[in-house]
Amino acid sequence: MKATCWMGTGNVQVLEVPDPKILNTHDCIVRVTATAICGSDLHLFDGLVPSMMKGDILGHEFMGEIVEVGPGVKNVKVGDRVIVPFPISCGKCWSCEHELYSVCENSNPNAWAAEKMWGYSPAGLFGYSHLLGGFAGGQAEYVRVPFADVGPLKVPDELSDEQVLFLTDIFPTGYMAAENCNIHPGDTVAVWGCGPVGQFAIKSAYLLGAERVIAIDRYDYRMRMAQEKGGAEVLDYEKVDVIDALKEMTGGRGPDSCIDAVGMEAHGTGIAFAYDAAKQAVRLEMDRAVALRTAIQACRNGGTVSVAGVYGGFVDKMPMGGIMNRGLTIKTGQTHVQHYTRPLLDRIQKGEIDPSYIITHRLPLDQASHGYEIFRDKLEDCMKVVLKPQ
Ligand SMILES: [Zn+2]
Ligand SMILES: [Zn+2]
Repeated sequence: MKATCWMGTGNVQVLEVPDPKILNTHDCIVRVTATAICGSDLHLFDGLVPSMMKGDILGHEFMGEIVEVGPGVKNVKVGDRVIVPFPISCGKCWSCEHELYSVCENSNPNAWAAEKMWGYSPAGLFGYSHLLGGFAGGQAEYVRVPFADVGPLKVPDELSDEQVLFLTDIFPTGYMAAENCNIHPGDTVAVWGCGPVGQFAIKSAYLLGAERVIAIDRYDYRMRMAQEKGGAEVLDYEKVDVIDALKEMTGGRGPDSCIDAVGMEAHGTGIAFAYDAAKQAVRLEMDRAVALRTAIQACRNGGTVSVAGVYGGFVDKMPMGGIMNRGLTIKTGQTHVQHYTRPLLDRIQKGEIDPSYIITHRLPLDQASHGYEIFRDKLEDCMKVVLKPQ
């Protein structure tokens, strides 16, 4: 089959690789009909996530048709059209029983390595480094899906691939980011980053009752989408002092909650950004946390900072004094996707949202490398790339 392989920093190639096989009685094999490139794939592309190996198959946002099931699989069958959540979860451990699917205790065969870095291991993820299991991803013609009874969700025929594909990650991720804000009627929510997750965080904040959403970015086309499709007010952080502007817009008090939908490759202005960029370049700091620090600084006293952007390791210059003295709550996590797929599919079916509006590029799988480049470099007003294997 053809698959998108990580071949080194800034180098992905679509190569012929062996077809996946059922390895465990609870596996299924999915023939991929649509797959997307995620902002977090760019951290892999840019070489910022440790433990990638040449030839690793990328991709954790994918859907398709089940073509084979292991003998232990009960909930899905050959021929079912399914979306597949990006965390691999067993459904039986303590975390899964508490619906904390992204920290499943059974799905990362390289848990020892993650424990060394983070204390405990989270779940294994599709196509996201050996630290997180070394599982082959779904930017390919076929993919093996472990624990097929837990993750894959059958989707109705009347909805197109493009309408349901983002249930695999970014729609639940934006939604969980907003849910973590514990929004009350009348609330103002500020969202850093108008990429795909930021766009869904904006939509979700309104779905959950926010009165006002203010989005922060520097690319016109992304801010335009946040405004026109999301209904957000926007701030360009290269043109205004964001903290001052947010104070001004909220009567001096600050937004009730702040969402970081940027993560470890944040851009910014001023000395703190220069510090992060220099330290990350020489690997003294894993993550550049400019957006996160600004979100913490801007949030009102007693408010919530919700972190959806991906971080890998250690962050310097955390304003812990402000967090503690001003009584902020920080909520975060890889998304517990399986917890959200059904309710969010319901919202799509009811017409409350059609997530396909963020797609700007549809490419054949063969052009994955081009897709990564235009998405990373924000060329052609690229918001979201969907790859189609056939
Ligand atoms: Zn993703
Ligand atoms: Zn589990």
